[in-house]
Amino acid sequence: MKALAVFPAKREARVIDHPESRIVSPTEAKMRVLDVGVCGTDREIVDFQYGTPPEGFDYLVIGHESLSEVVEVGPQVSRVKAGDLVVMTVRRPCSHPSCIACREGRQDFCYTGDYTERGIKSRHGYMTEFVVEEERYLNVVPRPLRDIGVLVEPLTIAEKSLEQLGRIQQRLPWASPVEPGVPPGPGRRAVVLGAGPVGLLGAMALRVSGYDVAVYSRSPQHDEQNDIVTAIGARYIAAETHSIDQLAQLAGPIDVVYEATGASGFAFEVIKHLGPNAVFIFTGVPGRKGPIPVDTDRIMRDMVLNNQAIVGSVNAPPHSFEAAINHLGVFVSRWPDAVRALITRRFPIDQALEPLSSGAGGVKNVVAISS
Ligand SMILES: [Zn+2]
Ligand SMILES: [Zn+2]
Repeated sequence: MKALAVFPAKREARVIDHPESRIVSPTEAKMRVLDVGVCGTDREIVDFQYGTPPEGFDYLVIGHESLSEVVEVGPQVSRVKAGDLVVMTVRRPCSHPSCIACREGRQDFCYTGDYTERGIKSRHGYMTEFVVEEERYLNVVPRPLRDIGVLVEPLTIAEKSLEQLGRIQQRLPWASPVEPGVPPGPGRRAVVLGAGPVGLLGAMALRVSGYDVAVYSRSPQHDEQNDIVTAIGARYIAAETHSIDQLAQLAGPIDVVYEATGASGFAFEVIKHLGPNAVFIFTGVPGRKGPIPVDTDRIMRDMVLNNQAIVGSVNAPPHSFEAAINHLGVFVSRWPDAVRALITRRFPIDQALEPLSSGAGGVKNVVAISS
């Protein structure tokens, strides 16, 4: 069957003929892959900065953001059946008995770093026609979300972050739940850095969770992204025309920052403008560049005197997939056009390298493997 593979040693990426997987354990299911989303991680893998083939292979089938349809199930599978739409999780546990995180099914917090990830690290991914997976890694998606279900995985980044945020904010005894229909009160002003899919999905999740949201971004697709941000009742602030000081005046005092750019210098400038008791969440992974000067005295002083917290978040547990599926249903009922506008274009697998090239443009490009 067709698959998009990278050969790191040969520095090659192309569509190959990859052997079709079969169910070998009674708790596995076989899926026909429908859509696979493309993100910066995939671009880095195709650029050979990242990505490890599974043992015994000289290539890695890429793709980790997927939506599939179950076509066959093993005799002990009970949670899914043929015809169900599913999204598969990405990270698989390490094998060290001492890794309490992985042994608890929380490989998103793996201590050893020896976890594997489908389409990224030592396991083939989803950019192929059929995939076999253990049922515990499958999350059922309602049929009405067929056209946007591929956004579940990038939304899980926000879902895990929001859960972490909620846990940190529990330190404030008045951080009461948001009341529907009541305008956001103190502590509910959020700034999202970046208007790519992760940032925009994060902005939607923050809006649905009762936050006042400003999206601050430097990007070539201003009009498209501005329309999406405005449609969800958030404010778009263009970095080209507004300095970080102006952002802080317009959006402050900032209680929460959801960072989704991976631009570290920019992020540390925004940290200087956090309000009292604020939480800053990093989700971007910066490329290695030269050192950047940072005003560490000021940042450290403000962090202490204002009880601020900075937290990094990566990957997501199964309950974040559940939360993402539920939220996607809410988003599409509130803002159907804005959610659909996140998907710019679908490409057939034979043209999968097109959206993987860095100049592809758009918000989220998808490889449509089958329909
Ligand atoms: Zn991704
Ligand atoms: Zn582990």
